[in-house]
Amino acid sequence: MGEEKKVARKKLKSAKVLGKFMADYYHELDRASKTGKKKIAWCTSVGPAEILRAMGFVIYFPETHSAMLGSTRMASDLIPKANAIGYSPDICSYLTADIGAYLEGVTPLSKAFEGITAVPKPDLLVFNTNQCRDVQDWFTWYGREYNAPVIGVHTHRGVGKITESHITSITRQLEALIEPLEKISDRKFEIKDLKKIVALSRECSNLWKKVLDTASAVPAPLTFFDGTTLMGAAVVGRGTSAANDCYRILLAELEERVLNKVGVIEDEQFRIYWEGMPVWGRLGIHFQLFAGLKANVLASTYCNSWIFSDLDPTDPFTSMARAYTTLFIVRSDAYKEKYIKKMLDFFKVDGIVYHDAKTCPNNSNCRYGMPQRIEKETGLPSLVINGDLNDLRLLSDEQTRTNVEAFIELLEENK
Ligand code: SF4
Repeated sequence: MGEEKKVARKKLKSAKVLGKFMADYYHELDRASKTGKKKIAWCTSVGPAEILRAMGFVIYFPETHSAMLGSTRMASDLIPKANAIGYSPDICSYLTADIGAYLEGVTPLSKAFEGITAVPKPDLLVFNTNQCRDVQDWFTWYGREYNAPVIGVHTHRGVGKITESHITSITRQLEALIEPLEKISDRKFEIKDLKKIVALSRECSNLWKKVLDTASAVPAPLTFFDGTTLMGAAVVGRGTSAANDCYRILLAELEERVLNKVGVIEDEQFRIYWEGMPVWGRLGIHFQLFAGLKANVLASTYCNSWIFSDLDPTDPFTSMARAYTTLFIVRSDAYKEKYIKKMLDFFKVDGIVYHDAKTCPNNSNCRYGMPQRIEKETGLPSLVINGDLNDLRLLSDEQTRTNVEAFIELLEENK
């Protein structure tokens, strides 16, 4: 793969602003770790970050670090190190790559950001099982290594209709975090601080949604492969005004593209929806593969996962419970199908690509007949790609290319 002529990709000027945000974010964590002046909390990517921020913690997200292990293609060599201490090659390759990196004493941060040589040491680790059980095992392992407390929220899974009992149970669990957090941070919880952070987080969510929604324009100004990087500020920076400032700049640039009918690829003929995790070590190659066939993968459930429209600063705990329970990943297949169909319509999609990520069943929605059901109802063709988020040994580039080419041919015939 990658030997053909490269397709020009219209670069976003504001990507630099987002890049600087990420650099500032990691340098702040590094300072906190080196000086001990601020407490550091590790948090899962859809964990209760707003509460941690409101209590003055600097927050580190191991999943983002592991995505970097994937995109820098360090992961495949590190995963066996975690396998050797009993973490199966079949479980989350974020977990195994990250633990492998720790065991080897390496991090992609040291190449990306000057002066950073290690990930920050946690004062505590906070998980939410809304995405999977792996995050709890992952954090528990580090809790033992660093001798740091591990606390968390256990969320309902496979949820169809969300009831008051779902929300009440999560609200109580979020409230129960306050006491241990006060002890560790040596700071009293103030509801006004949480309201302020939830307001900023909601604003971040609104801006990020608007950014992603610009891809409904024809031609689309954005590609999913860019979105996976641009979403960094929404993942690690929600609840900060700096993240919101970045997204205002990005949104303005994308809206200008829409106004001037500037697409991210030159000649957009096919519009594709991506369902599942990205293959982090293949972002550029996959962009080229699709763009070379005049197809733009322009929208995804994955990037939408950091839209939390239920957040409400006037009722922070309950609205956080609602926001983190209405998430796609937590829901039943019936809900997921309805959601995907809405997205296909909104983004004017010609076909769907499902990524069956070997080590993440939680984000692989093609194992129980969903593609077939959606295809039957919408008439839109779909393709399943076998691969993985981080473990490049689990995918065949040649197979992917052959399948994608055949898929685009099919879309061409359908036009
Ligand atoms: S959702 Fe998937 S990729 Fe994310 S932590 Fe869980 S198993 Fe890993």
